[in-house]
Amino acid sequence: MALGRREFLKNAGTCVGGASAIALGFAPPQAFAQETRQYKLLRAKETRNNCTYCSVGCGLLMYSLGDGAKNAKPSIFHIEGDPDHPVSRGSLCPKGAGLVDFIHSEGRLHYPSYRAPGSKEWQRISWEEATDRIARLLKDDRDKNFIEKNEKGETVNRWLTTGMLASSAASNETGLLDFKFARSMGILALDCQARLCHGPTVSALAPTLGRGAMTNNWVDIKNANVVLIMGGNPAEAHPVGFKWVMEAKIRNGAKVMVVDPRFNRSAAVADFYAPIRAGSDGAFLLGVINYLLTHDQIQHEYVKSYTNAPFVVREDFSFHDGLFSGYDPDKRSYDKTSWAYERDAQGYAVVDPTLQNPRCVINLLRQHAARYTPEVVAQITGTPEKDFLHVCETLAATSVPHLTSTILFALGWTHHTNGTQIIRTAAMIQLLLGNVGMAGGGLNALRGHSNIQGYTDLGLLSLRLPGYMNLPKDSQQTLDSYMQAVVPPADEPEQVNYWHNTPKFFVSLMKTLWGEHATPANSWGYDWLPKWDRSYDMLAYFEMMYQGKVNGYIAQGFNPLAAMPDKNRMRDALSKLRFLITMDPLDTETSNFWQNEGTYNDVKPEDIQTEVFRLPASCFAEENGSIVNSARWLQWHFEGASPPGEAWNDGHIIGTIFTKLRALYAKEGGICPDPVLNMQWNYKEPEDPTPEEVAKEANGYALADITDDKGNIVVRRGELLPDFSVMKDDGSTASYCWIFAGSWTEAGNQMARRDNTDTGLGATPGWAWAWPANRRILYNRASLDVQGRPWDPKRQIIAWDGHHWSGADVPDYPVTSPPNSGIGPFIMHSEGVGLLFAGGDKLVDGPFPEHYEPTETPVVASALGKTTLRNPAARFFADEKPRMGGPEQYPYVATTYSITELFRHWTKHSRLNAIMQPEQFVEIGDKLADKLGIHAGDMVRVSSHRGYIEAKAVVTKRLKRLNVMGKDLDQVGVPCHWGFKGATRKGYLANTLTPAIGDANSQTPEFKAFLVNVEKV
Ligand code: SF4
Repeated sequence: MALGRREFLKNAGTCVGGASAIALGFAPPQAFAQETRQYKLLRAKETRNNCTYCSVGCGLLMYSLGDGAKNAKPSIFHIEGDPDHPVSRGSLCPKGAGLVDFIHSEGRLHYPSYRAPGSKEWQRISWEEATDRIARLLKDDRDKNFIEKNEKGETVNRWLTTGMLASSAASNETGLLDFKFARSMGILALDCQARLCHGPTVSALAPTLGRGAMTNNWVDIKNANVVLIMGGNPAEAHPVGFKWVMEAKIRNGAKVMVVDPRFNRSAAVADFYAPIRAGSDGAFLLGVINYLLTHDQIQHEYVKSYTNAPFVVREDFSFHDGLFSGYDPDKRSYDKTSWAYERDAQGYAVVDPTLQNPRCVINLLRQHAARYTPEVVAQITGTPEKDFLHVCETLAATSVPHLTSTILFALGWTHHTNGTQIIRTAAMIQLLLGNVGMAGGGLNALRGHSNIQGYTDLGLLSLRLPGYMNLPKDSQQTLDSYMQAVVPPADEPEQVNYWHNTPKFFVSLMKTLWGEHATPANSWGYDWLPKWDRSYDMLAYFEMMYQGKVNGYIAQGFNPLAAMPDKNRMRDALSKLRFLITMDPLDTETSNFWQNEGTYNDVKPEDIQTEVFRLPASCFAEENGSIVNSARWLQWHFEGASPPGEAWNDGHIIGTIFTKLRALYAKEGGICPDPVLNMQWNYKEPEDPTPEEVAKEANGYALADITDDKGNIVVRRGELLPDFSVMKDDGSTASYCWIFAGSWTEAGNQMARRDNTDTGLGATPGWAWAWPANRRILYNRASLDVQGRPWDPKRQIIAWDGHHWSGADVPDYPVTSPPNSGIGPFIMHSEGVGLLFAGGDKLVDGPFPEHYEPTETPVVASALGKTTLRNPAARFFADEKPRMGGPEQYPYVATTYSITELFRHWTKHSRLNAIMQPEQFVEIGDKLADKLGIHAGDMVRVSSHRGYIEAKAVVTKRLKRLNVMGKDLDQVGVPCHWGFKGATRKGYLANTLTPAIGDANSQTPEFKAFLVNVEKV
């Protein structure tokens, strides 16, 4: 019998005696002599964890030695894939395989250090000195600049001169502490990596489907009949998740199609590849919608019953010359009054089930998309028309009820001024095909960083609260006015309209934040939340920083100098700070922004008066806690070793600074001390809260006995909440993040569960815990018709048993509402259906998607014949205009991307990964290389209007020359992993090239399409 490694270890107990006997000299002299060498993992401690890089969330087994002997500190010496993990099943990609080198990287920080204003050096300081000084700086800046009232005399309680970036790989428990810390002080400029990656996914999917997250999950991809990969390259960026694409292809006969500017590694194993001009995906997808509607290849019954296709739109809504009705060119924004349904006498939306009314959504959409003919799409995108039609035909084949396509995308769609609308178009395609809610269907937004889904869920974005609630703004001076604005009225009678529960979620949050100090008399501490007058997203805040309006900044697990666009300008912005605090396991470019690194970072340290604190943090392997993978699974991980040297866990750092700050307020007083002093921080050790107590706080408690409608007690006072359905708006429940309720209940830590039983179609509800309510496929009621019959009996995931809904997955529907109840499956929407027309305030740039060119584009006249070429609602700072280039000077389209062996700017600190990809390169098509006389391996300079990088040229056929609007167009590929710190050779930060302009809805920067020139050096 061949034993696997796991079986071997299980049987190890019986083997030890034998091994010892061999070691004692009873071994046969020859044949078994080698076995005296002990198995390398035998005496090791095994600890479970998850990979810290991408959000596939692969399971890890970490092995450490140092078994409690005196002075023997455990040290992790081996990491391998967890074979029991239902997604990764023992696999790790080259990034995960190098994790030991990350933990032991020479770039790890071991003790706090300090850089004095104008200094050229770091100096070591103690934690006490560092945290004392930081608390002092924060308090002084806050007291001096805190704004209690705005010009109108409205209470706003905000602090704008210091901001904070929260990590994307730290645990949820750290994120909760980050939020309490920052918001108690009134910080509005609080952001996380989601701003720079999947912001547009949330802005697109929430208005279209109800929630802004990946609809299905990694394993479910295997159920698809067609896989469209566009705006992402999972074979490189999510390699282990990609195995489920191969599973669909090999075992389910799925057709895999890739549409991408490069013939990438996903394309290499796909059935079909189509090239496309970076930045034109919106036109391609609108062309698909036109194809589906003109060829009548939609899932009719689904579209009629489960989308707002039959809803009738107001007469005054219109679209002309690239602009929707209500546009104000001076403000670059829309009055959205006309983006609405007709209303009946009761105020409900008018619906025409016959779809005959020309103002029905489906008819307006048909008219809107009709401009995107195959010929026009080919002209805009450069995709050959036959390739485009092949994609259309293959997708259209899944409009029948028993076939599904899934769409996989990532930053290739988000990193555009038009990112939200690109993703929304894809979601609309899936609604038209009847693929949302189906096993093997949906919109699989492949999140990047290991916990960026969690940090988005936790509300660590400038204008958000946990659980996708909004932070109140200036005009919402009372809790009532806030609720009036955020609780959606009913659009249709009898729909679930789940957001009508917002008051329960909001009050439960406030009870978590301010505990006993949150009372009905003070509207649960409503005034203590900072109110906003405008967005303080990262782009906006760095603009303020550049203008000298920001004094302090905290970068926790974040390297903004490498991550933000237009690096040289960002460096100049950081130079204007009075103080910068970094918390990171690694020595980042950001903490060293003041160092002269020659051509890579050409600054004069003596001119930079910023004092910098570099605080060493633990990494994933050195803490307990939970992270959320792309599929919304909260997975609990365990500490395998202590952090190196004097490094602290992030919670310890935040807890210590906050405790010192509160002590200063208690002793000295200061401006608006109440939200700081009243913030509930009742952890056993306030300086170092444990992840376990914080995780329970995120789930929430009953503060009084909770009763049902009949008066029966369902949760006793002091017990953990079983789910969010028991939450109250009377202060009797506390929960930090309503969608996490159920993650740690009286039954224990649900996130640590490890039952990988497949309950059907690859669902493993016993493994970890998924929000909301442990559902693995969102909107799964839409996988059955109105009568409750599955569209495809082979992929039935829930069923009605005469009394309840149940099945392989948790129903996304009121569990006792029978078929034919009239309740729609998109329960978060007031209409109960998916939205092809997203009116009201949902989007800033139009209720239908429209293709707009990137800010820097080679196209000078629209193939659609409109004069509005670029997104008219994208925010444009006046200072940025001179930093944009045109096609005369910069004739090539560049796009940034990631490669398999490296993860952003982290893995360059890991020796194994640095060996695999030691040196910076750019990809250039062979025809462009011929034209410029460049050979493989030559050094080239790639320049934009903002700066240049120099790197080795990889000359390739992977980047085809395209024909766009009758002209040849070449594209340049710029991987984004190197910098001036780490174990690789020094390189340029790729963001030196990219423009500082963001998606109109989420302000996520346009990293994926900009103009450059290329020269041989
Ligand atoms: S980087 Fe992603 S795919 Fe690779 S091992 Fe880590 S979690 Fe898995």
